[in-house]
Amino acid sequence: MPRISRKAGSFTESVIREMTRLCVAHGAVNLAQGFPDFAAPEAVKEAAWEAIAADLNQYAITWGAKPFREAIAAKASRTYGLTIDPERQITVTCGATEAMIASILAVVDPGEEIVVFEPFYENYGPDAILAGATPRFVSLRPPHWSFDPDELRAAVTPRTRGIVLNTPNNPTGKVFTGEELETIAALARERDLVVFSDEIYEHILYEGRHIPIATLPGMAERTVTINALSKTYSVTGWRVGWAIASPELTSAIRKVHDFLTVGAAAPLQAAGAVALALPASYYEELAGSYRERRDLLVGALHAAGFACAPPAGAYYVLADITGLTDEDDAAFARRLVADPGVGTVPGSSFWRAGAPAGKRLIRFAFPKKIETLRAAAERLAGIRVAR
Ligand code: PLP
Repeated sequence: MPRISRKAGSFTESVIREMTRLCVAHGAVNLAQGFPDFAAPEAVKEAAWEAIAADLNQYAITWGAKPFREAIAAKASRTYGLTIDPERQITVTCGATEAMIASILAVVDPGEEIVVFEPFYENYGPDAILAGATPRFVSLRPPHWSFDPDELRAAVTPRTRGIVLNTPNNPTGKVFTGEELETIAALARERDLVVFSDEIYEHILYEGRHIPIATLPGMAERTVTINALSKTYSVTGWRVGWAIASPELTSAIRKVHDFLTVGAAAPLQAAGAVALALPASYYEELAGSYRERRDLLVGALHAAGFACAPPAGAYYVLADITGLTDEDDAAFARRLVADPGVGTVPGSSFWRAGAPAGKRLIRFAFPKKIETLRAAAERLAGIRVAR
């Protein structure tokens, strides 16, 4: 048998995507993977059809079609007052996923380290491994999922090249405060680090304010801001994202991106330009509709016997299972997907392997139609008897 690489052997299949497959097998309501089951905006879909009909079907420029990059820069300027040169500071990628790995590969050498806040979106672990980097974890602790600045400082060594940040946060729903961001920024400036800032949930916000860390003093030149169409415009299957960075970092990211994927789908970039030009009311409605879903799910989880707090941002609820079962998170999630048929993700998927912190938690995703969430609520209503 040909052997597989040490890198490929050192991480497991995505638990989230495995849970989605189990949902299909059991006919379960899928609250595992974070993708919407409702329609994308009509104007955005029409723009994609029109682009294909107009034969925009060949490679775009590797680092992104000019109108799309211009739309990204214009939106960042409109929303946050950022000045970004679309010619030299934007790389369009295949989703935020590629933006993150291309950025890490562009900055971090094998044997170097990156700091990752834990719990973390599960891709960041394999991202580090694929780059040959060692992740150093810094705990986010409930109830506010805040971190200890001394622990953060202690995690930075002479080999550290960057800090991975995700706000609003998956899976905790935390929105990092201005003060917390300034603590991270101060350390990044002092130790000459790059912040890889995944802001894919910027518009899915219920409390507080989203502050891009690139807007803090001295941070534009050392931040890679990562985003995508996926969540904001409900098109996770389109695989269109981007990285915004200084011209120096961007030229490295563009090279890595070119050889990883060549480029993101050309007609979908054309539609992306239309999406990014949607009026402010679109984002207000988006956040409002997610608030309704959040409140419905949190109410249903409390009624079913879970302990959980409403998230401040993103579209996940981390729920404590202690009141319902003695099983660990994985056993409970596997039972739940089979009976009563609700897919979730075991909490430990968001902590490093073997960490105990996630064992009493499971994650529910709520980018779903109200009727889907009601169906899940009905199924969950009976689980208390299962103990
Ligand atoms: N970043 C975070 C924090 C996510 O939660 C997700 C998806 O769940 C992604 C990135 C993936 O983004 P994309 O689908 O654009 O690759």
